[in-house]
Amino acid sequence: MRFIDSHSHLADAVFDEDRTNVIDRAAAAGAVAVVCIGASLADAARARELAAQYPLLRWTAGIHPQEAASFNAETDIPALEALLVAGAVGIGECGLDYHYDTPARAPQHDAFEAQLALAAERSLPVIVHTRDAEADTAIMIDRAARDGVIGVLHCYTGSMALAERAVGYGWYISFSGIITFKTWTDVELLRRVPDDRLLVESDAPYLAPVPRRGKRNEPAWVVHTIERLADAREVTPDALADSCRENTERLFGFAAHAPNS
Ligand SMILES: [Zn+2]
Repeated sequence: MRFIDSHSHLADAVFDEDRTNVIDRAAAAGAVAVVCIGASLADAARARELAAQYPLLRWTAGIHPQEAASFNAETDIPALEALLVAGAVGIGECGLDYHYDTPARAPQHDAFEAQLALAAERSLPVIVHTRDAEADTAIMIDRAARDGVIGVLHCYTGSMALAERAVGYGWYISFSGIITFKTWTDVELLRRVPDDRLLVESDAPYLAPVPRRGKRNEPAWVVHTIERLADAREVTPDALADSCRENTERLFGFAAHAPNS
């Protein structure tokens, strides 16, 4: 199997002790690339350093909604732009998360809107986190799509309606280890996303798939998510891994950004 993990947090300090082993295991499992997400300016700077060190990694830069409390457009957007020109393949993760009472919705909106505007300006894809915020996410991606922005709804657990809306704009839907949990019942959603709009991700270190549930997650285990998704869609895991890999390469323009070619 040859797959891409479209979303991981390998810059997280929980990998500091054994990151090289984690990346080696990903490659041994069949990963041909792992996207290392920058969820804050500091995290993105670290992701950039790691990508320079490990050829398997690509990286992104963004401000996660949980990091939006102190968002300051005047300083943060130029800092983000400086990272983007240094070789980030996308903007994110960004988005809206109303699951907790903090950060307040206003700074989350400001940070998300500013990143969507930057995506339009720089023709870069966005990696969108949305949790308990479907209606507002829909409004904001409607507007972004009109500006020509393409992106992915990552770690998707939302409704069929929002998925179809995003797909209608040429966006992508990424599934994580959550789809392997017993609590996942929406098989129809797993079947309905078109072949050319589907991505898979670890979201490591979070959300380890069954049979590793509860452990620190790592990109090698995306294989279990691929198997679950392939089963739902009645295709072979190899075929599913191939199409998701091609989709990830298309979304992030790997051909244009390839550091190793
Ligand atoms: Zn994430």
